Amino acid sequence: MTSDPKAARLQKVFPVDLDKFLPDIIKRNYGKWVDRKFHGAGIIEHISETGERVFTVKVAMPPNARLSADTLEKFADIADRLGIGALRATMAGNLEFLTDSLEKALKIKEEVESMGFPVGGWGPAMWGINSCTAFLTCTTSVVDSPSITKALGDVLKPYFTGEEKLPAKLRIYVSGCPAMCAGGTAIDIAIVGQWGAPPIIREEALSYCLPPPKALEKIAESQVFLVQICPTGALSLRREGGRVKLTLIPEKCINCARCKENCDAFDYDPENVGVAILVGGKMSNTGRGPRLGRVLIPWLPAIPPRYEEIVAVVKRVIDVWREHAQPGERLAEFIDRIGWQRFVGLVGLEKVHAVYQRIPDHVRTFMYFRQRYEAWRRLREGI
Ligand code: SF4
Ligand code: SF4
Repeated sequence: MTSDPKAARLQKVFPVDLDKFLPDIIKRNYGKWVDRKFHGAGIIEHISETGERVFTVKVAMPPNARLSADTLEKFADIADRLGIGALRATMAGNLEFLTDSLEKALKIKEEVESMGFPVGGWGPAMWGINSCTAFLTCTTSVVDSPSITKALGDVLKPYFTGEEKLPAKLRIYVSGCPAMCAGGTAIDIAIVGQWGAPPIIREEALSYCLPPPKALEKIAESQVFLVQICPTGALSLRREGGRVKLTLIPEKCINCARCKENCDAFDYDPENVGVAILVGGKMSNTGRGPRLGRVLIPWLPAIPPRYEEIVAVVKRVIDVWREHAQPGERLAEFIDRIGWQRFVGLVGLEKVHAVYQRIPDHVRTFMYFRQRYEAWRRLREGI
């Protein structure tokens, strides 16, 4: 620990002085864990070479891990009474209670389940659904990812608790916009908010995103940040009666939302929102190694409160995987083994993808999203 008071203050925030906060049993056994045993869904016994044991109980959090202070107090009480006074937030948006006996672990499970929180998410199961924050604290949201996560969680809960078996680990990310703060596309199933039409420019708010008028007159169009960031050249400057205006060419826009992410003068029609669904990504370096997901559905409408279209596609993908995968085969490995076309055929999207494949890359724009969605919608009858 440094003696400089300013540095010491910063050290308390980040990086955390881990030693100071670790429970004694964890400190004593740091680097000594040699074995583990599973005790039903969500409970793992970790065994140290010293003979000591820690039991973890994994509990699903609400979408985006939002907990009220009241619930946190109840959890803290359980952790003090039945655990070792410690809680651990996981990457998959779950909370782990740590305790020192199986009896106490089972009691923790019983108490949190009676509060309505499922326990599970280990081994061949759904490990959780990560959601970004979206509208609560974010200004670029396309869809409300936490409410999509809630609708998915209600249907997929048996895969988390182990009531329904899966071939291998499954993780899902739900992001409110293409910035993908829920975790990117290197995951089994990624759901990403996408606008269904080009943005609308609010002229009155543009001055915050452009150089001052006098500077704008003097610099080349290609030097203006907003023009530079548009990947397709859909944004350009137009000089009109001594004024410089920003123009959007809808035919060139691919709805990537880069402009919106950088400037709040870009808005979208809230009635025209949807998601892209990508499948077959993973971060793990086991098996065939890490990889990005592939677009299965480029655009589906996001219709609250239950988001039936999105839930139906995700459920269908999981059902196909459950039915045809070999034991231990992640979704990515299953798709590799049977081939993309067969997978798409099993899901029931081959006609949509036949159309999609014929469209050259540079024109696979939002204009086709709706057409493909309509084709998918017709096919859905047979799903
Ligand atoms: S993914 Fe988009 S909507 Fe979600 S928090 Fe990030 S920027 Fe906001
Ligand atoms: S959404 Fe993307 S392609 Fe369309 S104008 Fe904005 S930056 Fe350009």
